[in-house]
Amino acid sequence: MVQPYKHEPFTDFSVEKEREGYLQALNTVEGYLGQDYDLVIGGERISTEDKIISINPANKEEIIGRVSKANKELAEKAMQAAVKAFQSWRKAKPEMRADVLFKAAAIIRRRKHEFSALLTKEAGKPWREADADTAEAIDFLEYYARQMLRIKDGVPVNSRPNEYNRYDYIPLGVGVIISPWNFPLAIMAGTTVAAIVSGNTVLLKPASTTPVVAAKFVEVMEEAGLPAGVLNFVPGSGAEVGDYLVDHKDTRFISFTGSRDVGLRIYERASKLNDGQIWLKRVIAEMGGKDTIVVDKEADLELAAQSIVASAFGFSGQKCSACSRAVVVEDVYDQVLNRVVELTNALTQGNPVDQNNYMGPVIDQAAFDKIMSYIEIGKEEGRLMAGGEGDSSTGFFIKPTVFADLDPEARLMKEEIFGPVVAFAKAKDFDEAIDIANNTEYGLTGAVITTNREHIQKAREDFHVGNLYFNRGCTGAIVGYQPFGGFNMSGTDSKAGGPDYLLLHMQAKTTSEMY
Ligand code: NAP
Repeated sequence: MVQPYKHEPFTDFSVEKEREGYLQALNTVEGYLGQDYDLVIGGERISTEDKIISINPANKEEIIGRVSKANKELAEKAMQAAVKAFQSWRKAKPEMRADVLFKAAAIIRRRKHEFSALLTKEAGKPWREADADTAEAIDFLEYYARQMLRIKDGVPVNSRPNEYNRYDYIPLGVGVIISPWNFPLAIMAGTTVAAIVSGNTVLLKPASTTPVVAAKFVEVMEEAGLPAGVLNFVPGSGAEVGDYLVDHKDTRFISFTGSRDVGLRIYERASKLNDGQIWLKRVIAEMGGKDTIVVDKEADLELAAQSIVASAFGFSGQKCSACSRAVVVEDVYDQVLNRVVELTNALTQGNPVDQNNYMGPVIDQAAFDKIMSYIEIGKEEGRLMAGGEGDSSTGFFIKPTVFADLDPEARLMKEEIFGPVVAFAKAKDFDEAIDIANNTEYGLTGAVITTNREHIQKAREDFHVGNLYFNRGCTGAIVGYQPFGGFNMSGTDSKAGGPDYLLLHMQAKTTSEMY
């Protein structure tokens, strides 16, 4: 009997044993740095000359691994392997598919600190952030396995006398999974296993900055007993392999998490019918955000400041849910702003292998340059209150940065920066604050800090985001507790870690038999 789902607890690093465990895990990971990783196609390991070199963003000299790189020919081979494997995997019992996920969760749980330590090295995640990423990956495995068991017998429909009607969910076919670097384990694993447990076969193209953790995850799925060809591992350039797979006539669906621009490109390309294609491709897209914390005048202002700082600067603001705007009612604006600046100036930053560093680097040179250019824009548009500097000599470090007094229409208030930058805007009252919070094309997360019950109700109705939080920060959704996904340009309105997520990877079949 399967135990009810409960989310994986976060590690308490005040316990010495846990701290020692993490340091040991960092040693373990250091022991395998620089190794080569192959593509996996139909169970066969394929090494290519051309490699993706994954580096440590906190220390550019350190190579995390060298990962083989798929080109169009290898992507085609992987597609054929997935098409073939689908014929048997679609008939594999849902219980057996779920068992693979349960076992994979157990393997990752046993190696939890090792996976987190690898995230610290490859993605620059501080301990707590890395630990949460690994916990979320375990949650996705545990949750989606149970969801499959819940829907495996379909949904009851009516039958007349002498008639037996059924309504069953069947898989779609071959899916292309394209994942981002910011949750290089959780989102990569979650999107992959949701497709697989639903009976589909997949091609996984991870982000090129974090392919090693994906390679390690593929090994776990093999160890858990996943048959060859169900999960094909094809790291490669988004532009080359990504476009090829999105366009492919045998691609039945694409599950993408990443930026707005790439999401739009995929959505558009997927809508074109290619020679030999006999279906409309489905696209599940989770895209960017421009997430706001609104602070009311009747509010716990210390909670407001703490929530803004944690949501803006956790993992250097590189979460789609990160708070990049604080909209504060004018009566309490200065108080909240000053406290945020104080807390921000007290944050520690450096190589995340050191547990004492609250913030690590940003992911790569391109991100560093982009964020720094927004900081320059911010200096024109607003008042720099904290941070504003970067140093990319050894790793890609940017100080946590606060800008004040932004016009709600300023670029800093409307465009996704994806780094440790938060912009403050003043609202004359709560209604105006909600209007400002709604003024972007995104709609991912938001939070409201208020003690006013009517304002909570108004925000519930009018603050148009997929994940709305009250009296807490706007990051940190938990699988199965706060299903996650946004509105408008934040994606296709799906909810990862939610009760209807698997259905996006399936189609309903009606059968009717006369007796
Ligand atoms: P990205 O640049 O859009 O990349 C995401 C993935 O798309 C990568 O695997 C990338 O491959 C691939 N890609 C690039 N060009 C492609 C193409 N033409 N066709 C197919 N695939 C292509 O995003 P990112 O920088 O990794 O992630 C940050 C973004 O993700 C932010 O905007 C953030 O808000 C968003 N995000 C959203 C959610 C959510 O749930 N809504 C969650 C996490 C992140 P390469 O690495 O090889 O370029």
